[in-house]
Amino acid sequence: MTDILQTKPADWKYVSEGGATIVFSYDGPSHPDFDGKVLRLRKSTLQKKTAPVAPTQHADGEPDDPTIEYQTKCIQKLIPSAHLPRLQTVQLDRFWLEELVKLQDGFRPQERKQKDEIDLERKKGVLATDLVGGNWLAVEIKPKWAFMPSLVHLSDETKAIKSQTCRFCMHSHLRARRGQQEATEYCPLDLFSGNERRIALAVNSLWDAWVASNATMNNLKVFAGGRFVTPSEAHLLFAEGYENGQGLNAVRDAFAVALVQPLLHTPVLRILSDLQRDLDALDIEGLSKLWKLTESSAPLYRQTFSSYFEQFSGDSELEPPTTPIGVSSPFLQSPEPCIFDWIDFVDAYLTPKKPEMDHSKPSPENLRYYLLAYLLSATVKDCSVIVKLDFLKPEEPQQDVKPDSVTVIDLDPKSMDKLRHWEQLDREIAQTYSSVQIKKVCVDEGKKS
Ligand SMILES: [Zn+2]
Repeated sequence: MTDILQTKPADWKYVSEGGATIVFSYDGPSHPDFDGKVLRLRKSTLQKKTAPVAPTQHADGEPDDPTIEYQTKCIQKLIPSAHLPRLQTVQLDRFWLEELVKLQDGFRPQERKQKDEIDLERKKGVLATDLVGGNWLAVEIKPKWAFMPSLVHLSDETKAIKSQTCRFCMHSHLRARRGQQEATEYCPLDLFSGNERRIALAVNSLWDAWVASNATMNNLKVFAGGRFVTPSEAHLLFAEGYENGQGLNAVRDAFAVALVQPLLHTPVLRILSDLQRDLDALDIEGLSKLWKLTESSAPLYRQTFSSYFEQFSGDSELEPPTTPIGVSSPFLQSPEPCIFDWIDFVDAYLTPKKPEMDHSKPSPENLRYYLLAYLLSATVKDCSVIVKLDFLKPEEPQQDVKPDSVTVIDLDPKSMDKLRHWEQLDREIAQTYSSVQIKKVCVDEGKKS
């Protein structure tokens, strides 16, 4: 295994971070194992240390980072490897990590530093292709939810709302209302539409939110020659000799022209939206109903609450308790999936001979399948795409789009214990949006009628 001690902490520079991981790019003396690579490290929250999944144990104690196994054994069957970064495990060292923290912590955003830190306990990290650090522009987009839900399992309260406005737009409204982010016009259904005019609209909305939030909104990040760019440095996006006298609007126009073509021609957005839609066939509302149905049909449950079933049948006010979705009980066990569960699931999902499932009447026998499908859908809803572009040359024709110019990153497995929070958040998002007077109309081009 490659060992991080072959490099010095000072050879790495801070690039960016998400909720669970932090990324550094190699900037040291030329080395075949590290040139053109980034180091991705797990973070731990300052309150409590958490392990996101139950990965397989290895002889040397710590398992490989779950991202690696999940990507190589599952995700690569769903997304062509030309559109995925190359990943490998690297051995870490505590003193080395402490030194890295000393050198680089000053580059981290203040609000992140208050919440979490590099997990110094980890013995393994991930080396990945450096998609942002070379002599090009890298645009990182977090596209989010690509589809409108199927209406079959929605409640009367949410059906009208969820069929008109997409999940992301409703969530943006909630966040803006709480003061967590700037209001944004960006709608993922524009980005995923396959329609050039709508993709341009999405790109412009992302740009406007990027400017308004001073590059803190996490749906768009821009890197020029490895440097994280903020709106006041937008001239860095131009090729040499093209930057003179150009204002922010000129950058916005040239940026949109350059970015729309790869987004229009790559198969990646279509693949992501098909996966999200297909894997989330029930919506969290339908999945939650199936969970309750399965638990309350269990023989032990019927026996435990037999007095209810004998006396109060049909009175919904006095229903016996059920456990929250994703939480195991004596009546229904649903442990965190390990890598073998994921491999089995993806094989079952991809088998051409699989029996047709009627999603309008999901069966308790298929609960585990639907749970894993929903978690995988959540991974795809939360990934990012990185588009590699040449430095901007306004008014010049675009170069051909290469297949490897669009790469999907941040495909981490999601855990079962998130489900109940997602159910709660979903309810809150729809409830808050129901009080909005003029509701946004989002158009889902991929919806099958
Ligand atoms: Zn929308």
